[in-house]
Parts: sequence; C-alpha cells; structure tokens
Amino acid sequence: MKSFRADYVFPIYADPIKDGIVTVDDNGKIISVTDQMPADPSSVEQLKGIICPGFINTHCHVELSHLKDKIPQNGGLVNFIKDVMQYRNADSKAIEAAAIKADNEMYENGIVAVGDISNSNATIALKANSKLYYHTFVETFSFLPERAEEVFNNGLALLQQFKPQSCSITPHAPYSVSKELFKLIKKYCDTTTRNLVSIHNQECDDENKFYRYKLGSFNELYEHLGIDITHFKPQARNSLQSIIPLLTSKQDILMVHNTCTNLKDIYFIKRFDRRIHWCFCPNANLYIEGVVPKVDLFLNQGFNITLGTDSLASNGKLCILSEMLTLQQKFPALGIEQLLTWATLNGAKYLGIDYQKGSLEIGKFPGLNLITGLDDMKITPDTKVRRLI
Ligand SMILES: [Zn+2]
Repeated sequence: MKSFRADYVFPIYADPIKDGIVTVDDNGKIISVTDQMPADPSSVEQLKGIICPGFINTHCHVELSHLKDKIPQNGGLVNFIKDVMQYRNADSKAIEAAAIKADNEMYENGIVAVGDISNSNATIALKANSKLYYHTFVETFSFLPERAEEVFNNGLALLQQFKPQSCSITPHAPYSVSKELFKLIKKYCDTTTRNLVSIHNQECDDENKFYRYKLGSFNELYEHLGIDITHFKPQARNSLQSIIPLLTSKQDILMVHNTCTNLKDIYFIKRFDRRIHWCFCPNANLYIEGVVPKVDLFLNQGFNITLGTDSLASNGKLCILSEMLTLQQKFPALGIEQLLTWATLNGAKYLGIDYQKGSLEIGKFPGLNLITGLDDMKITPDTKVRRLI
C-alpha cells in the first residue's frame, strides 16, 4: 500500500481536494481519496504539485513511430500523406523497435491507455506485452467503389489477427473511403455488439473543398497515385455533413482532428442520432497544417471531448501533457480541470474503460500522475508530468 499527498488531488469525477491524499494498494487499486491525514503520517509521501489519474491517449499510430523527424513540417495534409505512403514501409525490425520505444515513451509520460490506429499487424506483439491498455482500430481505406468489398474483407482478416485484444474496424477519412466501403462498415457496426469507430475528420480545408466542389489538392493526390476518381461527384455538402448519414447510430464514433470543423457542422451533428465524440490532437495539426481546431466552438455543446497525440510522424513526442499545453496557450480561458477531464475520464469513457480508468474512484486502477510546475493552475512550458505508479 502507498499514500501520496499533494497540494491538490484531482479525482476528476468530483471536485479537486486541497492537500488531498490518495492511497493505492500494491496493484494500483484506489483505496481512498481524502484530505484526512492517517494515524501514521510517516506512511504518506508528501509531494509538490497536483495528482491526477493516468492519461488516456485516444488517437495514435504506434506503427508509424519510425517516421519520427522524417516528414517536413507545415507541408499540408496531402504532402504529409504522400510522405507517409513513401516512407511507411521499412525494415520490420526498425518498425518494431521504434514502436516499442514509443510505447515506453507513452508510459513515461503518464499515459495508461491508447486508442491506436493500425493498418498492419506490426504492433500485435507489442500490444500483447505492453503495460498500457490498447484498443486497436483496424483502419480501412479505398476511394474506389469496386475495391470496397476486398478492402473491407482484408480489414476483417486483420481484425481477427488482433483478437482477443480489444479492437474494431474503422474507416480512415472521408476523402479516402468510398460510399460503398462506408456502407459495409456501417452494416457491420449496426449488427455487431461493439465496434468503436474512429475517423480522421476535416483535417484541412481542402477536404471540405473536395466534397463540395471536387476542387483542391485531393484531386492531385489521386492523380499522383494514378487512381481514377471520375465516379466521385461534388456533394451538396462538406465532408462531415456528407458522411454523417453513412455512419452508424449504434456505436460510439470519435471524430479526430476537426481542424476545419465549424459551428454549422456541430449543429448539423446535433440533428442526427449519432454517438459523436471529438478528439483534438493540436500538436499534429500544428506540425502538418500550422493551425489548430476552433476548440472554443465545441465547449458547452454537450459532447465528450478527448485528446490524442497522433503519431510520431506528425509529432515530436507522444505526450498528452504537451497537447494540453498547446491548448492552454491557444485558448487561455481553458481551465486545468477541464483539460484534465479531456485528458483522462473522457477518453476512458469513449474507449469504454471508465469502469477501471480515467478517475480516482475507489476500486479503479487509473494510474497516478504528478503534475508539477503549474503557474497559478495554468500549464506552462515548465510544467512536467511524472508517473507515480
Ligand atoms: Zn491519425
């Protein structure tokens, strides 16, 4: 058993506790959260800073970790995609070694669970042996209607390889998935007990332009790839509004990035019965496009908001605290409690693991992080995270 006392404890499901004490058993199970000193105070480790649950990273691509520092910044999404396609295939030993290093990095940065996108089986062994909880999204993409069935079946086959680990099949992005493939995934989601969906959404303006007018850089991407997309006609709506009807109402759906999502899109979603959650990965957005989502539009709209790191192809580190720092700097009105809720409990809720993680409730195994170097409860470049258990 261990007890930690800090300036504040953030249980997340309840108000912060000044001079709070968290006690865990040898397996990390929360025994108590209180401000009352025990009879023997010498058993309590006194710490400066705040204690919160372990972080939940709801968007990562561990299998792309070998692309760290390979892709130039600010090239825009289409160039980023071209570069990933060019460099992603590498020696399998190099891919595995980089993935293991990334997994360790997340552990050290206080992350306890990851929603991870996979296009291959490269990370199955790593995930089976990791100290972190993983949910794998087996990602499918093809913009050609005639390939939909083949691509979907390949996805199901990869899903079988990941089982019995937690996993689901998911579409990549509006610009890379044909209506036919969307429909196959929807049918599967509608008839399967549990299949979490996670989709890259409105990562750049050209995605909306492509859907509305069939203009912009995605045409060049398909030309570059030698893929004939004459079947695709401009839609009356932008990408998000075009694909929402193609998504299931039976499963939880994470919209990732949302860099160019506007208020009309948010209102559009509210008119549907889809179970939408939002995930922000601001450091990857800055890396690729040099902009961040209009986060303030999403506040107080009744949605569950989570955080992700994206991959090391588009981020210098896999660190949820760094994502919180960027949001704090871009949106100074955001409070620490709100950011911590996005970083912990909300991610756990989306992944369906909040019975065990995401908050400091008695009986859970959420992990404990110590955050130091806050300035009047604001995250600054001097703020650090240390894993306590
Ligand atoms: Zn991604």
